Amino acid sequence: MNFTGTITTTRVRQGKRDTKLLGNTYMQISQGSGESHASQTIAEPLDILRQTFGYEQFRDPQAEVIQTVCDGGDALVIMPTGGGKSLCYQIPALVRGGVGVVISPLIALMQDQVSALKQLGVAAAFLNSTLANDQIWQIEQQLSNGEIDLLYIAPERLLQTRTLNLFRQINLALFAIDEAHCVSQWGHDFRSDYLGLSILHEQFPSVPRVALTATADERTRGEIVNRLGLAGARQFLCGFDRPNIQYRITQKNNARQQLLQFLKHEHSEDAGIVYCLSRKKVEDVAAWMSAEGYTALPYHAGLPAEQRQAHQDRFLREDGVIIVATVAFGMGIDKPDVRFVAHLDLPKSLEAYYQETGRAGRDGQPANAWMVYGVQDVIKLRQMLEMSNGDDQHKRAERHKLDAMLGLCEITTCRRQALLHYFGDDAGASCGNCDACLIPIETWDGSEAAQKALSCAYRSGQKFGVNHLIDVLLGKSTDKVLQFGHQNLGVFGLGESLDTTQWRSVFRQLVARGYLTVDVSGFGSLILTEKCRPVLKGEETLHLRKDPKPQRKSRGKSARESISFTGGDEALWQKLRRLRKQLAEEQSVPPYIIFGDQTLKELVTYQPITSTQMLNINGVGDAKLERYGDTFMEAIREHQVDYLDRDL
Ligand code: ADP
Ligand code: ZN
Repeated sequence: MNFTGTITTTRVRQGKRDTKLLGNTYMQISQGSGESHASQTIAEPLDILRQTFGYEQFRDPQAEVIQTVCDGGDALVIMPTGGGKSLCYQIPALVRGGVGVVISPLIALMQDQVSALKQLGVAAAFLNSTLANDQIWQIEQQLSNGEIDLLYIAPERLLQTRTLNLFRQINLALFAIDEAHCVSQWGHDFRSDYLGLSILHEQFPSVPRVALTATADERTRGEIVNRLGLAGARQFLCGFDRPNIQYRITQKNNARQQLLQFLKHEHSEDAGIVYCLSRKKVEDVAAWMSAEGYTALPYHAGLPAEQRQAHQDRFLREDGVIIVATVAFGMGIDKPDVRFVAHLDLPKSLEAYYQETGRAGRDGQPANAWMVYGVQDVIKLRQMLEMSNGDDQHKRAERHKLDAMLGLCEITTCRRQALLHYFGDDAGASCGNCDACLIPIETWDGSEAAQKALSCAYRSGQKFGVNHLIDVLLGKSTDKVLQFGHQNLGVFGLGESLDTTQWRSVFRQLVARGYLTVDVSGFGSLILTEKCRPVLKGEETLHLRKDPKPQRKSRGKSARESISFTGGDEALWQKLRRLRKQLAEEQSVPPYIIFGDQTLKELVTYQPITSTQMLNINGVGDAKLERYGDTFMEAIREHQVDYLDRDL
């Protein structure tokens, strides 16, 4: 059979029926008689998933959400980043008649979201303040003519009388309220315009609404329900795990070298983010990484706005760009193929850590959350906290958060379990994809070492920092030791059974676990706390973490391994990456909009050379096949010939 339309391929995947975009709704085309005619049956969500998006199966709970909304019901969807929220409204918008209106505060992302949909053959558009009047007018015309299936709109534009009037005259499929936590005044992303969205319910009572967010806590969820009038909505709460992210936290020895080894062995060509605490460090690290041959761009609030924008754009549009940034970077960055997030400094809380590391691997492909930290980091954060201006209650809360963060660093069991537990998720068995699971951490009886460390701090008057205390323990007659007469202390030279790195590990753990605290003078002197008493008296056994020795090679299964190829496959991977980049540049879109990493990987693995084979690749639907199928198949054939020649 043959269609005289844009779709001319036959499929092999089971259960697939050809559908075709006709005006405002997907019509299913019956395949029985050999005649090509469109019946009036509306396409099934699964058909759209396969033919338009090129994916085989729904993820949990996409199918249920989609069914709820297709049936006209409201839904509240709480799903982690990368979980697949977009399909939850995109598919119902295509199944139901009329336009699906997506409300989002992230104006900067709309352009890319719409480009991605257009690549899939979906009639999409956006309305926000970046458009000129004639562009707005044109889109309004298209809306009136029923030519648009998905409309992205900023909340303030939606609430204008002009927009509401237009909406009253057209057929609406649904309202999707993305980033729904923006209605919450407790959250940090509060947008007052979001409060106005309650009128959707009042003015368009028959249009189903789906609110979506990745923010899980109960208070925020309650606020979303109250403020948006979603009491009757079905709630879909997903676990918060990001199984494709591998968590690794290592003692800092030489942070830059450690980072370099990590990149060299695991992410030599990948896009990633390196977080640092200060602006100066951001600039130093970016300059150093550039000198090492990486495309590394600084980003912090002190840089001119145009430069920040330019760096962000390059990160989104070019392949393999590394952003070195303070926490100022990340909000509203929706790049799916960030392969690693590295921390050279410790975040202040687990909330910050989870949010920052969560920017890795949105596409579900393997990614790394990698961090090095040492005793100085712990001391610095404790100092910053104690010297901050907040009142006691505020400081107590901050201290609690920092302790939780340090707890994650010092833990000897599965990190993922600990993280999920902190966020109130049921963690299940150990994950097998964090450093503690991959290389079990040993502990040792550090009671005696702790006694020496503590008495060294005590005997020297609790006026010195960690470096000096280690010198005393190791019996080094430095100028400072001699100046203060510390060569006469009983503990002088008593710690020679451990080396400097090991002593740093002991002190770090003592500070992290609250046996030592830091003075507020800013000099980093270590002071004993009440908690030390039983340790000094020998009444408490202290099990310390045995920090693994630094290794040149990466440990365990790295994230990179699953995207790296050898020999001919590596050559094909590079060839297809270049092709993707070239196509992306021609259209001024980010490379992942052409094909995501997973799709490219499958193209290398399966090397499809027919349309049928091509359609079996994840992420290749009808429109992508038509646009890029031939180009990529030609490249694959070319590659095969090249390699055949080589074998002869
Ligand atoms: P979120 O908005 O929840 O962060 P997205 O909607 O951007 O997540 O989806 C994350 C990634 O997962 C995207 O690359 C998307 O194409 C992919 N994805 C979503 N659902 C599926 C599915 N059912 N099968 C395969 N890939 C999917
Ligand atoms: Zn684990």
